[in-house]
Amino acid sequence: MRLVLLGPPGAGKGTQAAQITKRYNIPHISTGDIFRDNIKRGTDLGKKAKEYMDSGLLVPDDIVVSIVKDRLTKDDCKDGFLLDGFPRTVNQAHALDEALGEMSLKLDNVINIDVAKEALISRAIGRRICKGCGATYHIEFNPPKQNGKCDVCGEELYQRDDDTEETVARRIEVYMEQTKPLIDYYSKKGIIINVDGKQSIEGVFKDIVKSLK
Ligand SMILES: [Zn+2]
Repeated sequence: MRLVLLGPPGAGKGTQAAQITKRYNIPHISTGDIFRDNIKRGTDLGKKAKEYMDSGLLVPDDIVVSIVKDRLTKDDCKDGFLLDGFPRTVNQAHALDEALGEMSLKLDNVINIDVAKEALISRAIGRRICKGCGATYHIEFNPPKQNGKCDVCGEELYQRDDDTEETVARRIEVYMEQTKPLIDYYSKKGIIINVDGKQSIEGVFKDIVKSLK
């Protein structure tokens, strides 16, 4: 099963990725993780990627593509993989198709966790985090027993600086602008699976499994 996972920030992509990879016994390939691994091992690609990251620049497509290609040839990918964070652009999607084509492979499905902007905003701005133990709450969906205090350790809860309505909305808009062409690209190929991300974690996962059959 060769899959790509798409979803806006706050859609619960990480949780779904963990469940999908466990269920289908495939590796979770996040470009962030591969970068960190290549940098740690001091590979040529890692060194190049680090230069860009250190100067706060986006790592150019050819380096990202090389790093992903290299990762996809590893043994644990022989029965498939779940790509997360790549591709981000139609150009990268083309490059991925080419790379897989060279190995006589192709993508099976692209899972798109779909959540409306308004819902993502209300999720993010309601989030509260414990100063003491890092436990997370939501004032509406998962409130602490006592207002503003952690159930686990009793410390005060706070809101992250970048969880304001304005920054969250901007974050989502950037994501959507960037991802729309990618969703169109995979829709045309007929391999996109749109999953309603407004449901519970279990509901989303069930829908994904059903669609992958
Ligand atoms: Zn706590």
